[in-house]
Amino acid sequence: ATPTAIMVGTGLGARRGVLFKNAVALEASAGIQTVVMDKTGTLTKGEPEVTDLITIPGTDEDQLLRLVAAVERESEHPLAEAVVRYAESRAVAAVSARHFENVPGHGATAVVDGHRVAVGNRGLALREGVDLGQLAARREALAATGRTVVVAAVDGRATGLIGIADTPRETSADAVAELHALGVEVVMLTGDNQATAERIADRLGIDTVIAEVLPGDKAAKVAELQHGGLKVAMVGDGVNDAPALAQADLGIAIGAGTDVAIETADLVLMRSDPLDVPTALRIGRGTLRKMR
Ligand code: ADP
Ligand code: MG
Repeated sequence: ATPTAIMVGTGLGARRGVLFKNAVALEASAGIQTVVMDKTGTLTKGEPEVTDLITIPGTDEDQLLRLVAAVERESEHPLAEAVVRYAESRAVAAVSARHFENVPGHGATAVVDGHRVAVGNRGLALREGVDLGQLAARREALAATGRTVVVAAVDGRATGLIGIADTPRETSADAVAELHALGVEVVMLTGDNQATAERIADRLGIDTVIAEVLPGDKAAKVAELQHGGLKVAMVGDGVNDAPALAQADLGIAIGAGTDVAIETADLVLMRSDPLDVPTALRIGRGTLRKMR
């Protein structure tokens, strides 16, 4: 009965765009106890939009945006694209940056108009020796609303904050509820800051958040969860997620994700719908039952 059950399971999945790459993937999906989900692009749409721009007194908003956008134009990060689009929508003049440097998991720095400009999270400010000063409280308040907050520092001084929102996918909350109904724990894994991640997790019914994880550390976090013999699935979309997908007992890639994630995964969700995660686990369980 084994090969037949596997064919049936694989076929059932394929009809919903749930593509198991092999029989091992199908069998692994039956035993999953914890599902780790990347936040940006997996639980959220991955289409960040600037919602807030806050500057310290005496700073011209467009002036600051001009410097920040010059740095972000050199970056390939989705947040950077959102900032550039926002600057364009405000018709801010484009200038060029020199000595651009990407700081993975933190942000970027460059020299614009003779000023050293740093754009990124609190970790970047820390590395740059920048004190948030009067912006610290505003940063916290903005993060508590679920916004990703980008700090802009000019010549070592925190000058502004940019609030960026990324809307959860329509079915993310339902997917979490269905996983819970299957007795599966759900964990959010993200490079974004703790307060932002917790707010979004709250909204989606996720109880465990692992935030502020550097791109290179995602796989180690999955391995930690596996320590006691727990069977862990990882769902992700980005290049950053590939090592974690490989580490997991079941790597699940969002179909709209990067080629690297799709190649690394054991299972691909063609419709990019989080609800297909519980569907895949159910197909796995059904298949294993028929094999006994
Ligand atoms: P994620 O897991 O959310 O994709 P990353 O590891 O890529 O996160 O980045 C973590 C954090 O670093 C982001 O949430 C953001 O605060 C900051 N960051 C990274 N790159 C940039 C950038 N180009 N501009 C502004 N902030 C950035
Ligand atoms: Mg992502």
